[in-house]
Amino acid sequence: MNESERLQRMIDESGRIVFFGGAGVSTESGIPDFRSVDGLYRQRYPYPPEVMISHSFFVEHPAEFFDFYRAKMLCLDARPNAAHQKLAELERAGKLCAVITQNIDGLHTQAGSRRVLELHGSVHRNYCMSCRKAYDARFILESEGVPRCRCGGIVKPDVVLYEESLDSGLLERAVEYIEQADMLIVGGTSLVVYPAAGLIDYYRGKRLVLINRDPTPADGRADLLISGNIGAALGRVRV
Ligand code: NAD
Repeated sequence: MNESERLQRMIDESGRIVFFGGAGVSTESGIPDFRSVDGLYRQRYPYPPEVMISHSFFVEHPAEFFDFYRAKMLCLDARPNAAHQKLAELERAGKLCAVITQNIDGLHTQAGSRRVLELHGSVHRNYCMSCRKAYDARFILESEGVPRCRCGGIVKPDVVLYEESLDSGLLERAVEYIEQADMLIVGGTSLVVYPAAGLIDYYRGKRLVLINRDPTPADGRADLLISGNIGAALGRVRV
């Protein structure tokens, strides 16, 4: 049996699938990840992404933060690819319980997935730091310099910056989904950003599938390892 057939068989045999993914899920939609050869780490910026989108950089250099954020993190024209679409289809078919994502691009929801746990927040939610008024992503894209609310406060994206902590309630829900899963598909993540990367330790089942272009620290634990594009791999799945 080849890899695709083994993946298909595991999916056919499972009824409580959970998907856990990262930036690699959206590269086929044209959004660069951080660590691939064409990822943001290889591009010329004064600092690596984890500095440019850190809490202290946001506080100390808000104008530079928003320049980088608008240019590299806000990809409002991107559309869901075959991976996002297949996961939404699996949920509609009653086979997939949740998508847990480190991505902030909102593409799983756009593809039709309903139970999406966005561990690192979403570019589509933005709040005034003074009066909490909500703004959409287009407001951030179209404002110049530091986006300001009518009250004068800075409008901050609801994304978890480096040095900030994750929502503990959301993490607990993610752990519950993973503990109860009968299949865990992990894809498009280098599994080096914690605490999100530690989530797979909660999976105790027999169907751990890893789909990634580059090796990850968890490769040796996978029951099925697929080295390649996740859109292609999931796109072939029959629901
Ligand atoms: P990462 O950049 O560290 O790793 C991405 C991994 O995905 C790499 O190992 C790469 O080999 C793999 N990959 C790339 N394209 C792939 C494809 N088409 N198919 C299969 N594998 C593919 O990303 P990470 O682990 O998610 O961690 C980086 C952090 O930055 C996370 O918090 C992430 O959410 C955030 N981020 C988000 C976005 C987004 O929202 N789209 C984009 C960049 C970074």
